[in-house]
Amino acid sequence: MDRLILWDVDGTLLTTDGIAAEAMRAAMRQVVGPSASMERTSYAGKTDWLIIRESFPSLGGDGVAERLHEFAAAYGAGLELQRAALRERSQVFPGVSALLEALRATARQAPLTGNIAAAARIKLECTGLLHLLDLEAGAYGDDHYDRAALVPIAARRAAGRYGRAFAGQQIIIVGDTPNDIACGKANGARTVAVATGPYSREDLAAHGPDALLSDLGDTDAALAAILG
Ligand SMILES: [Mg+2]
Repeated sequence: MDRLILWDVDGTLLTTDGIAAEAMRAAMRQVVGPSASMERTSYAGKTDWLIIRESFPSLGGDGVAERLHEFAAAYGAGLELQRAALRERSQVFPGVSALLEALRATARQAPLTGNIAAAARIKLECTGLLHLLDLEAGAYGDDHYDRAALVPIAARRAAGRYGRAFAGQQIIIVGDTPNDIACGKANGARTVAVATGPYSREDLAAHGPDALLSDLGDTDAALAAILG
């Protein structure tokens, strides 16, 4: 158990078929109002906090920070109302459950995701993955707007949970975007990219992950990529 695997959620473990993104936009409209930037802002690899900053540049960083709890409450409430749709339409990518199960014996596993914590929990609950990850050892999009800052937050929480430090290559970041790779590299972590999100293998390869997978369907190949 000397490794800490930090999993991105959307595009890596699962997809919500756009349900969560629409709930996010509804929450932003509810809290601040319509915004032209909101429709242009792409979500992949970004924290929810950063998405809100980019959607409402006029609020400024401090303005968003002050109102983040309002967004989180509205978004969380919106997702709660979508539980049935999330259960019905969300998909866990092939091989994910088997891989998480296979890694349980050798590593600690937690989310490192741009989702606010409440959204991560609902998505994982509705897809049956919640019991495979330790949410208390993870880091989320309401902890910081900068994804790179989430790695030390998760490491600190994991250290508190398990009574031991995780550093450098003992930490493994698995994600589907260049931002996942960048956040791992910024912290000296091992990075594994998986092309099940909006980026192709070629896109991801250009960012130099330590390992690159088309998907997580081959458990042995994924174990080799993750554990090195
Ligand atoms: Mg992702």
